[in-house]
Amino acid sequence: MYRSHTCGELKATHTNTEVTLSGWVQGVRDKGFMVYVDLRDRYGITQLYFDEEQTAAAILERAQKLGREFVIQVKGKVQERASKNPNIPTGEVEVLVTELTVLNSSIVPPFTIEDKTDGGDDLRMKYRYLDIRRNPVKESLIFRHKVAQAVRNYLSNQDFIEVETPYLIKSTPEGARDFVVPSRMNEGQFYALPQSPQTFKQLLMVGGMDKYFQIVKCFRDEDLRADRQPEFTQIDCEMAFVEQEDILNTFEGLTRHLLKEINGVEVDKFPRMLYDDAMRLYGNDKPDIRFGMEFGELNAVAQHKDFNVFNSAELVVGIAVPGGNAYTRKEIDKLIDWVKRPQVGALGMVYCRCNDDGTFKSSVDKFYDQNDLEKWAEVTGAKAGDLICVLSGETNKVRAQLSALRMELAERLGLRKPDEFAPLWVMDFPLLEWDEDTERYHAMHHPFTSPKPGQLELLDTKPGEVKANAYDLVLNGNEIGGGSIRIHDKSTQAIMLKLLGFSEEEARAQFGFLMNAFEYGAPPHGGIAFGLDRLVAILGGQETIRDFIAFPKNNSGRDVMIDAPAPIDDEQLTELSLKLNLKS
Ligand code: ASP
Repeated sequence: MYRSHTCGELKATHTNTEVTLSGWVQGVRDKGFMVYVDLRDRYGITQLYFDEEQTAAAILERAQKLGREFVIQVKGKVQERASKNPNIPTGEVEVLVTELTVLNSSIVPPFTIEDKTDGGDDLRMKYRYLDIRRNPVKESLIFRHKVAQAVRNYLSNQDFIEVETPYLIKSTPEGARDFVVPSRMNEGQFYALPQSPQTFKQLLMVGGMDKYFQIVKCFRDEDLRADRQPEFTQIDCEMAFVEQEDILNTFEGLTRHLLKEINGVEVDKFPRMLYDDAMRLYGNDKPDIRFGMEFGELNAVAQHKDFNVFNSAELVVGIAVPGGNAYTRKEIDKLIDWVKRPQVGALGMVYCRCNDDGTFKSSVDKFYDQNDLEKWAEVTGAKAGDLICVLSGETNKVRAQLSALRMELAERLGLRKPDEFAPLWVMDFPLLEWDEDTERYHAMHHPFTSPKPGQLELLDTKPGEVKANAYDLVLNGNEIGGGSIRIHDKSTQAIMLKLLGFSEEEARAQFGFLMNAFEYGAPPHGGIAFGLDRLVAILGGQETIRDFIAFPKNNSGRDVMIDAPAPIDDEQLTELSLKLNLKS
C-alpha cells in the first residue's frame, strides 16, 4: 500500500495515528539535528519531521539528501506541530517519520513548482507535466472537470443522451479550413477532422435520438489568434421537435445551473437583444452588458456644419465615458494614440469634455457650438463630468473601433467585474454574409441554419436582408454558445446551398447524405454548441483559456512539449501516397 492518507487530510484529530504517505518533495529545511520536509500531492502538503533523537540515523541522513521533486513514501506517526501553520489545512500537524523510501529521484526542475513560478510561458509549456503540479494549473484542471461534470449531470437529467460521433469524417464547410488526414487504404483520399459534429447531430435527430449532447473535440485550421486553439472542446447539443424558444429555455436552464453550481450565483434574467440592436448600441455582436456606455449615433446632430471628417463619414458615433472629464489633456492624447494603433485602426478621435458647470469643451470647437455639443451629450447620454469620445468613418469599421475603445475604457474603469455575470441572448443574425474577397454570400452561421419563418421568399430578391433562426449566448462580452433552428427539408436545403454557390452536383457530392436523410422523415430540429474552454475560463474568472487545457498549443499552433507538428519519414509518406514523385 503506497498510502493510507493523502497529503491534504491530516488534522489534529489524527494525532498518534500511524500513517503512510506518498508524494513529491516540495522542499527540505535541514537544521542539522532536525529536518523538515514538505510532502506534496494533488490534495495538499503535509510536513514531515525527522530529528536526531527520534529518527534512526540512516533515515535522517537520507532525508537530508532529498532533493526537490523526489518522489518518496514515508511511514510515521501524526503529531501536533510545535509551531502551527494556520494557512494550510494540515497546518496543525506533522508526521514524525520512522520509515523513508525514495520511490524515484528527480533532477532539478527548470522552474519552481510554486503558485508564483519563475518559469516563463515557453518553459512551462515545454515541461507542462511539472507545470500541472503547480496549484493554479492543477486547480484549473479540477475546475474544468467540475464544470464538465455539472454539464453532464444537468443534461442527462433533462433526458439528453451523450453520443459519440466520428473524428475521421468528410470535410464540411463551416467557415474555417479543415485539418485533413490522409487515408492509407484509399490512395489519394483524405478524411477531415470535424470542425463540429454538426451534420452528425442532425442525423441523430433523423435517427430519433430526440435530445443529444456530447462534450467533444473540434478542429479548425484557422489563422491563430491570441487565445484560440486549433483543437478545442464544445458542449454540442441538438434537440428534435423544438422551436427557438424551447432551445433558449433549455440552455438558459443549463447556464443558470452552472452559474449556481459552480459560482454560487443566481442569475435572474437572460435578456434578449436583436443582432441589429447589438451592432447599433455596442458595435459588436457579443456585447458586455455589465456596464452601459452605449453608442449614440451622431450623424443627425454632427453632419450639419463644415467639419468634413464627419460630413463625409457613413457613421459618426460616440460614447460617454463616466467621469472621463477628469482625464488630463495628456491622458486624452494617449487615448487617441490608442485608437490609432493598427490593432484598432481609427484615423483619429474627436472628444468633448462635459464640464461640471454644464458647459462643453470639444476638440472641434471651431465647428460646433454649445447647442450642438449639448445634443451630442443627449444622444450619448453623457452627464456633467463625462467625456464624449467620437469616431467616424465606414459603419462596420467604426463600430468595431468604438467597441474596442468601449471595452478598453471599461477595463480601465474597473467596470468588467469578474464576479459579476451578465448573460445575454443575441438573436436574429443575418442568414448570409457578403464576402468581398470571393464576391459571394457565405452562411453567417452555417449552411444548415434556417431562415426566419416567412423570409424564404426574400432569399431570391434580397438575400442579404434575410434573418436567420440563429442565436448566440453571450456572457460578459464573450460568445459562449451559438446555434440555430435547422433546415429539415430537402428543397429548402437545396435552395440554401445554391445560394451559397454550390452547383447541384457539388451539393449532392458534399451533402447528399444529409439531403437524402431529409427524405426519410426528418423531424424539425435545432441546437446549440457551447465552447467549453472559454466557458470554463469565464466561470473561473479568467480571460485566457490556456491554463484550463492540460496540454495546450502555443500561438503558432505548436505543442512545444512533444514538438508537434513534425515531419514524418519517407516510408510513411510513401505508404500514404504523399511522397512527391519528383520525376513526374
Ligand atoms: N455547429 C455549430 C458551431 O460549431 C453550433 C450549432 O449550430 O449547434 O458553431
